[in-house]
Formats: sequence, C-alpha cells, structure tokens
Amino acid sequence: MTTSSPEASSAVFEQHVIDPEICIRCNTCEATCPIGAITHDDNNYVVDADKCNACMACIAPCPTGSIDNWRTMLRDKAYSLDEQLGWEELPEQQVIEAAAAQACAAANGSGDTGNASAPVVHTGTMAMSATVPPWSAATPYTQLFGPKAAQPVAMAKVVGNQRVTEAAAHGAEDNDTHHVVLDFGDTPMPLLEGQSIGIIAPGADGKGRPHQPRQYSIASARNGERPGYNNASITVKRVLQDHNGNAVRGVASNYVCDLQVGDTVQVVGPFGASFLMPNHPGSHIVMICTGTGSAPMRAMTEWRRREAKTGKFADSQLLLFFGARSKTELPYFGPLQKLPTSLITTHLALSRESNQPKRYVQDAMLEQAAALLPLLTNPNAYFYVCGLKAMEAGVLHALEHICTQNGLDWPNISAEMKAKGRLHLETY
Ligand SMILES: Cc1cc2nc3c(=O)[nH]c(=O)nc-3n(C[C@H](O)[C@H](O)[C@H](O)COP(=O)(O)OP(=O)(O)OC[C@H]3O[C@@H](n4cnc5c(N)ncnc54)[C@H](O)[C@@H]3O)c2cc1C
Ligand code: SF4
Ligand code: SF4
Repeated sequence: MTTSSPEASSAVFEQHVIDPEICIRCNTCEATCPIGAITHDDNNYVVDADKCNACMACIAPCPTGSIDNWRTMLRDKAYSLDEQLGWEELPEQQVIEAAAAQACAAANGSGDTGNASAPVVHTGTMAMSATVPPWSAATPYTQLFGPKAAQPVAMAKVVGNQRVTEAAAHGAEDNDTHHVVLDFGDTPMPLLEGQSIGIIAPGADGKGRPHQPRQYSIASARNGERPGYNNASITVKRVLQDHNGNAVRGVASNYVCDLQVGDTVQVVGPFGASFLMPNHPGSHIVMICTGTGSAPMRAMTEWRRREAKTGKFADSQLLLFFGARSKTELPYFGPLQKLPTSLITTHLALSRESNQPKRYVQDAMLEQAAALLPLLTNPNAYFYVCGLKAMEAGVLHALEHICTQNGLDWPNISAEMKAKGRLHLETY
C-alpha cells in the first residue's frame, strides 16, 4: 500500500475483501469491475484497496455473495494484495483505535467508504450484463449447499454419462464434451434453467487443500432431466489445454468426464439469480452460445418444448445462434437437428469447417439483423449469451452494429435491456 500523507495514512475506510472460503473463482467480479480493482492468482480472488471505489457494481452479479465483505481499516494498515492472495479464510474485523473509529463514522456519514478518487472507466463488456432476472422469472433457490450453508455439500449419484461431441481427428479426447446426469435422491436441489452448480473433485490441490468447486451450468429443465425426477444434467468439456494452449489436465472437467454410472459426486450450490428465463406468454428468447455455453440454452429450450403442449408460448420465438469450430465440436448437434422449426430457429456458425469460409456467431447474427432488430427494442425479448469469454465482445459489437446501422442508440438500448433483465452474459 502507498499513502501520500500522514492524514491519508491514518484515515479509516471500509476495505472491500472477498471471502475465500465461499468464492467459487468464477471470475464474474473481475469481469464486472469497471476499473479493474479485482485480480486473482491460482489461489484467490482479491480486491485492490488502492483502486476500489466501492461502486458496488460487482456485488449483485457474484453468485455466492463472497464478494460482499468489508473490513473497517486504517488506510495504512489495509490488507495488501499479497496478504489477500495468501488467505484461506477472511480475517476477523480488528479493533481499531477510537479516534480512527470516529473519523470512520464521519467519513461514512459523508458516504466516503472507499477510494472515491479512483477514476471510473468502463472497460468490461460484462458491465452490460443484467444483474436482475426477467420480471416473470421463477424464484431461484441459491446456496443450499456450501461452506457457509447448514450443509457443506450435497451428494449426487451419477445416473448417466454420455459423450455429446464426435471424436475429432486429433484424438478421442479432443473436443470431448459429456452430458452427465446427476440424481439427488431425496436431497433438496431445486434448479432453474440458467442456474449452475459447483462440483468438487476429490483429492487435494498442490498445497494439500481440498479442490475448489468448479461451476457447471444446468443443462436440464426445472422438472429434471427426466421429468418428475430429482435429477439434473450438466454439459462438461474436458480441459486438456490452458488458456494459453499449454497442455494441462483440468482437475474437475476430467474428473466429471471420466465419471461412471453409480459414482457419487460432491455438489455445492445452486448458484445464479439473474440468468433466468422469462415465463410469461409472448416472451421471446434469443440464445447466443459457443461450446458448453449451449448448456443453459438446452435447458431453456427443453423447458419451452415441454411447455409447448399447453399452448402458453404459442406466440413466443426461440432463436439460437450456436458457434463452434466444426460440427464435431458442437455438443448436442444431433438432437438439435431434430427440434421442430415451430419451436426454435437455429443458426449455426462454424469457423473451421473444411471447404467453408470462416463464420463466427457474430457473423450469423449480422446476417439475421432483420430478425434481431425488432427484438432488441421489444420489451418481451430476452437475450442470453453464454460460452467462451472470447465471444463476448464480438456478440456485443454485432448487437451494437445492428442498432447503429438502423439509427438506434445502442448505449440507451443496452442500458434499458440491462435494467429490465433483458441482456445476460455468462462467459468463462
Ligand atoms: C458461470 C460458469 C459456468 C460454467 N459452466 C460450464 C459448463 O457448463 N461446462 C463446462 O465445461 N465448463 C463450465 N464452466 C467452466 C468450469 O467451471 C471450469 O472452469 C472448467 O471445467 C475447467 O475446470 P478444470 O478443473 O477442469 O480446470 P482447472 O484445473 O481449473 O484448470 C486447468 C488449467 O486450465 C485453465 N482453464 C480452465 N478452464 C479452461 C477452459 N474452459 N478452457 C481453457 N483453459 C481453461 C486454467 O486457467 C488452468 O490453467 C463454467 C464456468 C463458469 C464461471
Ligand atoms: S465495489 Fe466497484 S470498484 Fe470495488 S471491486 Fe467492486 S466493482 Fe470494482
Ligand atoms: S464467487 Fe463472487 S467473489 Fe468469487 S470470483 Fe465469483 S464473483 Fe468473484
């Protein structure tokens, strides 16, 4: 920590800290923070006290609530990044001197809880993501299981594990994505489309501590993978390379892909209270995804398919933009082809299919500008983006382009969509 004057060094402030015991390392806060105050290493997500201005933008999107922790501190005693990166649990609130506490009360009275002088520069595309659900969304349950819940984990039994991508030319494990069905027996695990669960792989990390949970989106509808059963599915891609392309065997994804029917799995969650589908008649859903980002889209589509016989959504559109390098990498490609066009309109974008020009999701979206334009301004149309982090900017740019080409003001429209829970981004 650096401080500029004795006054500043003795000032009291509310230091923003993250609870390492319940954080699931999902990166949402780092992606949301408009000024880059959040960073992480292999161990923890941490907040830079020199940068954080307590704008609260990161609070609502955090799926666990671990972000919403504050410690009253003297500024020159603030926890450094290095200290926070070494934490295994949050330190208790320390007693601070009375004089400093008075200063704190005065500062809080003036609303000065953080580093108000830090410039607010909007950088992240995630800042556009809604933190509220659609008004007609069902009410989600969250965090029934976790380190700070009454029960730390739920045990689920594997009742299905099926590969949903074709084997690629490079080898059987390449592009290996699995549809895994988990049965919770009599353990309460109510889940909605768009929520996720955390899976804890057995064993320990390099420092001998239990593995952190990894988050997986629910791929089944709210009434179960099999209707009426207390089960749910997830779509998991085997990680064999890190983000830089170096060979690595991802801990949880390889564990899940190798699970056998009959195995038991430790689950935490559910997580997520805003990436939820609308449930009112006439509500339209635009789904934009790559790879395993198809999981929540499968869940939403399946729920609408099951509801189709009621006629409730007869006037609703489902639009899917699905990107992958090739057909062999598209999870659920076969079943997707069998969905009736009366239920869903699908646009595939393949970027490395031989003898075809490269096509990304944003290209497919731009081609369909005439269909997307009225939906951008329709209060009953909800947009969901899920998949690789790299897709986010291109997708938002395509939406912006469609607006500006048609004389619409994208900043206003996107702000309105965010405020009304009509634009949701979940990338990892
Ligand atoms: C909100 C949310 C929803 C998610 N939903 C899904 C889902 O539905 N299906 C799914 O398969 N995954 C999903 N993920 C990603 C998942 O949580 C794990 O990050 C992923 O499975 C890798 O975990 P791992 O333990 O195998 O790898 P780790 O052991 O954690 O990581 C090994 C190395 O690979 C890098 N790495 C981690 N993930 C990836 C990746 N995807 N691509 C390249 N390198 C990576 C790490 O940085 C590390 O260097 C989601 C993540 C979030 C935040
Ligand atoms: S409160 Fe605001 S500035 Fe601080 S970490 Fe969260 S988003 Fe960033
Ligand atoms: S769980 Fe919350 S604090 Fe942890 S990385 Fe995700 S958003 Fe950040």
